[in-house]
Amino acid sequence: MGKIKKIGVLTSGGDAPGMNAAIRSVVRTCSYYNVECIGVYQGYQGLIEGQFEKLNARSVSNIISRGGTILKSARSLEFKTIEGRKKAFDNFKEEGLDGLIVVGGDGSFTGAMLFQKEHGVPVIGIPGTIDNDIFGSDLTLGYDTAMNTVVDAIDKIRDTASSHNRLFFIEVMGRDAGFIALNTGIAGGAEEILIPEENLGLDRLVESLKVSSRSGKSSSIVVVAEGEKSGKNVFELAEYVEDNFEEYEVKVSVLGHMQRGGSPTVVDRVLASRLGVAAVEGLLDGQSNVMVGVINNKVKRTPLERAIKEHNEIDSELLRVADIMSV
Ligand code: ADP
Repeated sequence: MGKIKKIGVLTSGGDAPGMNAAIRSVVRTCSYYNVECIGVYQGYQGLIEGQFEKLNARSVSNIISRGGTILKSARSLEFKTIEGRKKAFDNFKEEGLDGLIVVGGDGSFTGAMLFQKEHGVPVIGIPGTIDNDIFGSDLTLGYDTAMNTVVDAIDKIRDTASSHNRLFFIEVMGRDAGFIALNTGIAGGAEEILIPEENLGLDRLVESLKVSSRSGKSSSIVVVAEGEKSGKNVFELAEYVEDNFEEYEVKVSVLGHMQRGGSPTVVDRVLASRLGVAAVEGLLDGQSNVMVGVINNKVKRTPLERAIKEHNEIDSELLRVADIMSV
């Protein structure tokens, strides 16, 4: 592969706050190094359909503070096929692109790896997902913002819960990872936190809520990650607890997509700015098939394959802190 003179950037999969800040950073870093930057709309589908737009430093003014992604995100079934990726490559070549930066989660990185393998295209990934479930970065774009949104919601629900002696089950995002639930549960003062990595068991849950109630608590909040392992959804969980514990009126609040929205926090804006620079500089350095992330607050590159296959572990210290705080 010759010198990198033209870079494409796309956002793919689930959107996350901070994606715009990452696009801005990629575009401005390209501008800094006199490299052309092409925005690809609608993720991989836009690559297949040739939805390209030349971006310059001024095209990305005033987007650092905006949630969502100006390039749009999409899920492309066609890109999962060899033929789809070939079409994408034909457009990629015709546009004169030399490298691709993909902002997304593990699905997007799987697509990027295949694209690289089949067509020899240099690719670099930036982890953009609110779930923080990507190996090779202590933080992913959108995670900090989503947690702040959740805590804000928990605080508001707490006000109404304590006015009525209510028990609230609050479902937060996290199908496979409990990072949002665990951290927001601690920050929001939850009595219990249910995450996919641990199965508390229904009897222990009810028992623990009874202990809380006997200790004089007038309200309780249980934060539930979408993927928790009791085998019941959040409504069934609430029903089970209500049937076994009559002192409380049990309510459910599913926070849903609001967790993906909003203006990114300082943490996400700075992270996005750093990773955008690292991604462009990585391509210019001849790197490919890696993700840029931060580990112990230093920018690091991790092979995409490891980023996808390996997992960040839940911190057992946080579990212990959560336990102690709910005394
Ligand atoms: P995320 O990147 O947030 O995990 P998805 O899993 O929806 O989101 O993946 C986003 C896009 O990446 C998909 O719509 C598809 O175009 C591409 N992709 C995902 N998995 C694969 C795969 N196994 N092979 C090729 N492309 C894939």
